Amino acid sequence: MTAQIIDGKAIAAELRKDVAAGVEELVAAGKPRPGLATVLVGENPASQTYVRGKQKACAEVGIESFGHTLPADTSQEELESLVKELNADPKVHGILVQLPLPPGLDEEKVLNAISIEKDVDGFHPINIGRLAQKGREPLFVPCTPAGVIKLLKKAGATLEGANAVVLGRSNIVGMPAALLLVKENATVTICHSRTKNLKDVCRAADILIVAIGRAEMVRKDWVKPGAYVIDVGMNRVDDASKKRGYRLVGDVAYEEAAEVAGAITPVPGGVGPMTIAGLLWNTLRSAKRAS
Ligand code: NDP
Repeated sequence: MTAQIIDGKAIAAELRKDVAAGVEELVAAGKPRPGLATVLVGENPASQTYVRGKQKACAEVGIESFGHTLPADTSQEELESLVKELNADPKVHGILVQLPLPPGLDEEKVLNAISIEKDVDGFHPINIGRLAQKGREPLFVPCTPAGVIKLLKKAGATLEGANAVVLGRSNIVGMPAALLLVKENATVTICHSRTKNLKDVCRAADILIVAIGRAEMVRKDWVKPGAYVIDVGMNRVDDASKKRGYRLVGDVAYEEAAEVAGAITPVPGGVGPMTIAGLLWNTLRSAKRAS
C-alpha cells in the first residue's frame, strides 16, 4: 500500500487565504485591523526564528503585528506588566508569549496573566481546562493540535469511534491533541516515556498522532495497515549534503511508514504550516469577537 500524503502546506495555504479574506472583510466594514502582539524574552535562536515567521505570516494576511523583545534577565514583574498592558490595548487582539521562557521566569504565571479573550495560543489554564471538560468550549484551541484535527478531517479520517493513539503528553501538543480527539468521540490512548509495549499499542491505532521529539522513532512495524499517521515531530539531524549542515525529520520514519499507512503527513510540510495558519485564524476570530 502507498499512503495518501496529507499536504499540510496546501491545506494551510487555503486556511491563510480564508484568513486574508476575513481580515479584508472586517477592515472594509470599518472595523479595526486584527493585531497580534508577540513577546520574545531572551535570545534563543529557534524562538527568534519562530517569532519572525509568525510576524511575516501576519503581514501576508493583513494582520498587524506588534513585536516586543525583552532581555533574558527580564523580571517576572516586568514581563507580567507588559502582558497586562497588552491585555488593555484595543489594537491587540492576540498575545503570543513565545515559549520556552528563560530560566527563572514562571511560565504558568505568565500564561495565567494573558486575558483569555486574547489567548490565541490557547495555553491559558482556563482555556485548557474548558477543553478538558464535557459540554464546555474553550475560547481558543492550541494551534498545533487544532491543525492535527484539521489535517485528519481533510484527509477523510472518521474520528468518531476510531481507536486513536497519541504518542506524547506535553501541555502544548500531546495532551490537548488527546482532549480534542475525545471531543471528536474517538477512543483515545495517551502514551509517554513510561508506556509499556509502545510498539504494540501504536500498531493497534486507526489514528496515530506522534509528538515525542525523537527522530524517526516510529517505524513501519509500529503502524497498522491503513492507519492515519500524523507526525508532529520536528528534529534536526546532521546532514553534510545540506548547505545548513542538517535536515529536518519527523518522529516517524516517513518512507517506510508510508508503505503501510493509509495516509501520512510529511516533515516538513505536514503539521508545521498548520500551526502558524491556526494562530492567524485565532487572531482573526478574536478581532471579530472584539468588534
Ligand atoms: P515535549 O518534549 O514537551 O514532550 C515529549 C513527549 O514525548 C513527552 O510526553 C514524553 O514523555 C514523550 N516521549 C519522549 N521520549 C519518548 C519515548 N522514547 N517513548 C515514549 N514517549 C516519549 O515535546 P513537545 O510536545 O513540545 O514536542 C514534540 C515534538 O513536536 C518535537 O519534535 C517538537 O519539535 C515538535 N513540535 C512541532 C510543532 C509544529 O508546529 N509542527 C509544534 C510543537 C512541537 P514523558 O511525558 O513521559 O516525558
